[in-house]
Amino acid sequence: MNSDYDYAIVGAGCAGLSLAVRLGRMVGRGQRIALIDPRPSYGMDRIWCFWNTSTHPFVPAVAHSWQRWKVRFEGREVVQASSRFAYHYVPADAFYASAFDQLEKNAAFDLLLGTAADSIAARRGVAEVKTSKGSLQARIAFDGRNDAKRWQGKGILLQHYAGQRIRAAAPVFDPGTVTLMDFDVTQKNGISFVYVLPFSETEALIEPTVFSHTPLAAEAYTDLIRCYLNARYGIVDYEVRFQEQGVIPMTTNLAPPRRLGRVVPLGTGAGMVKGSTGYGFLAIQQWSQILAAAAVRGLGTRLPRPRSRRATFMDRVFLAYLEACPTAAPKIFFNLFQRVPAERLVRFLSDRATPIDVSAVVKAMPKLPFLRQAGDVILEGI
Ligand SMILES: Cc1cc2nc3c(=O)[nH]c(=O)nc-3n(C[C@H](O)[C@H](O)[C@H](O)COP(=O)(O)OP(=O)(O)OC[C@H]3O[C@@H](n4cnc5c(N)ncnc54)[C@H](O)[C@@H]3O)c2cc1C
Repeated sequence: MNSDYDYAIVGAGCAGLSLAVRLGRMVGRGQRIALIDPRPSYGMDRIWCFWNTSTHPFVPAVAHSWQRWKVRFEGREVVQASSRFAYHYVPADAFYASAFDQLEKNAAFDLLLGTAADSIAARRGVAEVKTSKGSLQARIAFDGRNDAKRWQGKGILLQHYAGQRIRAAAPVFDPGTVTLMDFDVTQKNGISFVYVLPFSETEALIEPTVFSHTPLAAEAYTDLIRCYLNARYGIVDYEVRFQEQGVIPMTTNLAPPRRLGRVVPLGTGAGMVKGSTGYGFLAIQQWSQILAAAAVRGLGTRLPRPRSRRATFMDRVFLAYLEACPTAAPKIFFNLFQRVPAERLVRFLSDRATPIDVSAVVKAMPKLPFLRQAGDVILEGI
């Protein structure tokens, strides 16, 4: 293993690869970047969806999009649509292929796959990364290590889910409308809904999702999928084509640094995934651009806030409310989609809200309980 690098990117997931693609385009001739990840190879392990509120280098990997989405609660459905913002779908295999295609052509990179980092520390003027295959040093190391276990048992509210892309024998899905949240499912495990991404009349991703402090056993999600397909669509026999599972921390306590140090947190661990929604893909893209530009400027470069104070405050109040009043959550989400115009809500959920968008969202919330939570958050200090 070569031991001296200009940059080390530890964790080649969404954030690590997104940063690597940007940094690879910006570094000077002769500079070296190590990319470290325990995975020996990459495949279709997850999907990313988001509203296309900003562009990114992985547009060619967008494999599907929808212009309509709905939320269901107590037998009622609210459907929203936008001709301006579509809901985009990026399958992980296309994302990884696009990223590695760019990195493999770039002589700056050493792709150290199949290599786990045990520790990353700033020491004697360098960042030292100890890995399963030896140590290396870099001027700056980015720490994008992330896995589901990291967030469990810490008292953090979690968004946890497991989905299956299934193929049914009969045409039952409406391929034009995503079900963002179907709350008409058991609520015994925590705030629960099913997410449905219909790819055609016969094929869809069905993903039971729960907000609670402890993930379920794998079979519990599978059972929920089976029950849901039977109850909602009358499907008993189906073929499973792909599965994903995830655990996302629902907190505003993870935040990126305000200046570029020797060891820079990245991705989920740096608060790139929005606590209240679990959306992170576009924020990771935006932040990768900022970090790559800061890295070539050098240590100590000031970094902007990735999320405004107002957005963080709203997220914290919302999360405090979910913790305090979980049974009210389905109705709150339903009301949000019913009362806030689609494009305003999309901007809000995507951290691009204007003051008028925020005011529309605030108006859709129950006043007294939210004021109480807002008061508590202010007293705690944001
Ligand atoms: C299943 C799933 C689906 C999601 N869907 C969406 C979505 O639809 N839309 C959206 O906006 N967001 C979504 N998210 C949230 C977020 O966008 C993703 O989690 C995103 O992948 C986060 O990027 P990341 O780089 O922080 O983590 P990851 O992409 O998980 O990457 C972390 C990397 O760290 C590596 N690693 C772990 N341990 C070590 C170690 N010791 N040394 C070196 N490397 C290590 C892992 O192998 C992995 O490659 C989803 C999350 C999950 C888990």
